[in-house]
Amino acid sequence: MIITRRIIQIVFTDKWCEEQLSRLVTLEQFQGTSDGEMDEIHVLRDAYAADVCVLLTTGAILVGGMAYEINVAEHEAFCVVNYNYADAAGYWSFAHEIGHLLGGRHQGTKSEGAQGFDPCNEPYSYAHGYRFIGNDNNKYRTMMHVDPYEGSRIKQFANPSVDFQGVPTGDSNHDVALVFT
Ligand SMILES: [Zn+2]
Repeated sequence: MIITRRIIQIVFTDKWCEEQLSRLVTLEQFQGTSDGEMDEIHVLRDAYAADVCVLLTTGAILVGGMAYEINVAEHEAFCVVNYNYADAAGYWSFAHEIGHLLGGRHQGTKSEGAQGFDPCNEPYSYAHGYRFIGNDNNKYRTMMHVDPYEGSRIKQFANPSVDFQGVPTGDSNHDVALVFT
C-alpha cells in the first residue's frame, strides 16, 4: 500500500507517558487548544509539521479507538487509540482510526455486516470497508470493516487493485485507498 500523503509525526513528553497510562483523556481534551489538557500538542504539531495527531493510551475505556470526524479539516485531525489494540493483529486500530480521519467509513450496509455499519456516503460513497471470500474459502474484511462475524480483518484498506488470497480487496464501490491518494 502506498500512501502519498505525509501522515504522522509522533511526539510526546515524559509527563504524558506517566499520565496517559493511568487515566482517561478524552479525544476532546486531546484536540482542544486551551483546555489545559496537553495543549502543548499543538505547538509540537507545528514544530514537527504533523498532519495527524494520535494519542496512544491505556487509560481509555475505548475498545479500539475514536477519531474526531470523517475526512477532517486540519484542526480535527486528532484521534485516540487504545495502546493495546493499536498494532494488535486483527485490530490495527492505529491504522483504522487514521483511516477515518482521511475519509474512510465502516461497511456501508447492514447486509455487509450488521455490527457497526455506517450507511452515510459523505463525502465518498466508495470509501467503505469491504468483505470478501478468498480463494482459500475463508471470509476476510478490510481495515474499515468492523463486524467480526463477517470474517478476519486483514492489514489492508479496501483497494480493487490489491489482491488478498487471490481476490481483489475492493471494487468500484469499495475503494478506501482512493481517498488516500
Ligand atoms: Zn471505526
